[in-house]
This record gives sequence, C-alpha cells and structure tokens, in this order.
Amino acid sequence: MTDRLSARARETPPSGIRRFFELAEEMDDVISLGVGEPDFSAPWAARTAAIDSLERGRTSYTANRGMRELREAIADRATTYDLEYDPDEEILVTAGASEAVDLAMRALVDPGDTVAVPQPSYISYVPTVTFAGGDALPVPTSVENDFALTYEDLERAGAADADVLVLCYPNNPTGAVMTERQLADVASFAREHDLFVLSDEIYAALRYEDEHVSIATLPEMRDRTVVFNGFSKAYAMTGLRLGYALGPADVIDAMNRIHQYTMLSAPTTAQYAALEALDSCEDEVEEMRRAYDRRRRYVISRFNDIGMDCFEAKGAFYVFPECPPGWEDDEAFAEELLQAQNVALVPGSAFGEGGRGHLRVSYATGMAELKEALNRIEAFVEAEAER
Ligand code: PMP
Repeated sequence: MTDRLSARARETPPSGIRRFFELAEEMDDVISLGVGEPDFSAPWAARTAAIDSLERGRTSYTANRGMRELREAIADRATTYDLEYDPDEEILVTAGASEAVDLAMRALVDPGDTVAVPQPSYISYVPTVTFAGGDALPVPTSVENDFALTYEDLERAGAADADVLVLCYPNNPTGAVMTERQLADVASFAREHDLFVLSDEIYAALRYEDEHVSIATLPEMRDRTVVFNGFSKAYAMTGLRLGYALGPADVIDAMNRIHQYTMLSAPTTAQYAALEALDSCEDEVEEMRRAYDRRRRYVISRFNDIGMDCFEAKGAFYVFPECPPGWEDDEAFAEELLQAQNVALVPGSAFGEGGRGHLRVSYATGMAELKEALNRIEAFVEAEAER
C-alpha cells in the first residue's frame, strides 16, 4: 500500500451503488434492477455512423468544444425545449454529462462556496462539489410532494445562503419530474437568493405524461443556469461517453478552458454517432420511450399491489417504492432480498437524505425479467410478513 494517496483520494468513498453490485456479482441467477443504463443498444444508424467514421480514418481530436456540425445539431435540438444557444459560444461537447457536471462545479465553485444538492439525488453531485473544494448542502425532498423540490424545502435546509443549486429533473433515483409551476417557485428562490443553477436534464426525453420544461426557459434564469444533457439515456449510448453543456458564454468558456487541459476533446467516434443520432434516430428513441412507459406502469402497479407504496414516477427509468410495512432499514431490506431471492435493488439511502426507507428500481430491463423480479419480490415480502 502506498502512503502517497492524497487526502482527497483517501476521503472519497466508494459509490453506494457499486458496492452493492459487487455483492450481487458474486452470486448466480441474480436479476438486477439496479443499473442506471438502458437495456437497449444504440440505434443502428448511430452505430453505423461511428463505424463509418472509423473506416474513413476520422480518428483525430476534434475542436475542444466539439465538432461544429454537432454543436449546431445540438443547438437545433435544444429548441424543442425552447432553449436557444449559440453553437460557437454557448455549447460545450463533453465526455458524458458526467464531465460536464465536473467542469461546471470547477468553473463555478471556490473553496468555501456552498452548493445546495436536493436529495435523494444522483450520486456524482456531492463528490464533484468536494473535488472543487466546495461544501455540499443536502436539501431533502419528500415523498409527500412526489420528490419535487419546493421553495419550502430550500428554505428549511438553509439554501438561501448557498451559491449554487443543483437540479435533476426528471430525477435519478426517484423518477420525479417537475411542472413549470413548481420550477417557477424554485426559480424565484434562485433569483431572490442569487443562486446559480446547474440543471441536469439528461432524462429530458424520457417523460411519460407531459413535455419536459427546462428551468433555463423561465424569466431571468438563462443567465444563471447551465443545462446538462447527453446521449447516454435517450439514445442508449452510455458507453460512447458523450454529453454536453448549454450555458452563458462566459461560463461555457471557463468550462472549456478546464476541459482543454483535462480532456482536450470529447471522443471523436462518439461525436459522429451523436450527430447521426440527432439527425435520424427519433423513431427509435420514441420506441424505447414507449417500452419504458409500459414497464413503468406495470412496475408501479405491482409494487403498490405488493404493499410497497410507490408514487407515480413520470420520468427517467426509475421508480422509488417504499420498503414494505415493518421494514425501516432500506439497506437491510435490499441485502436480505438479494440473499433470499437473488434480486438486486439499490437502497434509497445510497442517494442521500430523503432516500431512506426507499429502494431505487430501474426498469431499463426486459419485461420478462421485470415480471420474474417482481414475483420474487412479492414472494419475499409475503414470506417475511408471515414470520
Ligand atoms: N446525470 C444523471 C442524473 C445520471 O443518471 C447519469 C448517469 N447515470 C449521468 C448524469 C451521467 O451520464 P453520462 O453517461 O452522460 O456521463
């Protein structure tokens, strides 16, 4: 063991999701509803474009900000959400939305600054705040509001003194979405207390009841918001590592200055795939969305029948049921379910405050497997109730 590890490296905990899956990997016949990635492959046309780019020998770096043609296509696509961004100055193509999150934290957060992070939330926000030297302030959201962030949640947590606010809707891990009205309250809070907003909208295309609304489109929000999106979820391109950030020119420029030293440019092959994805793959995206929607309805109704209360998640590909009556400890429930029935779910507490007593269930899994997993969960819950 080296004693050279930095304090930062030593203090970075393993992801609560991964740790659980290492356990599951050691077992046979496990059905995992734990992984946050599509069970589909990227649309054929996007894959073919990637292959074609390789055959043509397009294996060099691109411009730091990403291929201009791709930035234009991204700008064009953003207009479907009423977002208007200049491809030259206000868009940065990144290695996944993950890189964009990290760059934005480093571009906007100084040591001692506070970043309000609504929870439960995706696991990378708090560590990237820490890497930037900032302090994360958890802002618990609650099942009573279907995990939408409220003005009162922000007030109660003391977010008025924060510098930056993270938003993630549609949400990982809850599947929650926010309406324009709900976003308007959060926008008022951000304006009143001068918070910059980082809005992770990577699941924008996976909405099941209504259209996605971006907080950046609300009055006076554009100049204080960076929007993240990417190709991993809607286009089932997780392994291609391609995302982007949309924001005011000065912030995108600052992010690009960090990106040019740490990444140079996003993966070239993936940029060709993404360009084709935006150009010709909307039918496939819609087909996947419909498949997720069928599974979503099925899973929610099964959990409610089993007695694990599950609010109606309207976005992403997660639901967030409560542990059944008698169980408070979500980690214990997940572990015992795994041991007894070989079904892997992620304990809600892996996603921070507000997640306790819940489980994250990904329905990015085929229907046959979902049915079998729910049968097993039902058998487990019934057997436990009889004990
Ligand atoms: N944000 C959220 C909310 C996510 O769920 C994920 C992936 N699990 C990411 C960002 C990272 O996406 P990418 O593959 O584009 O880095």
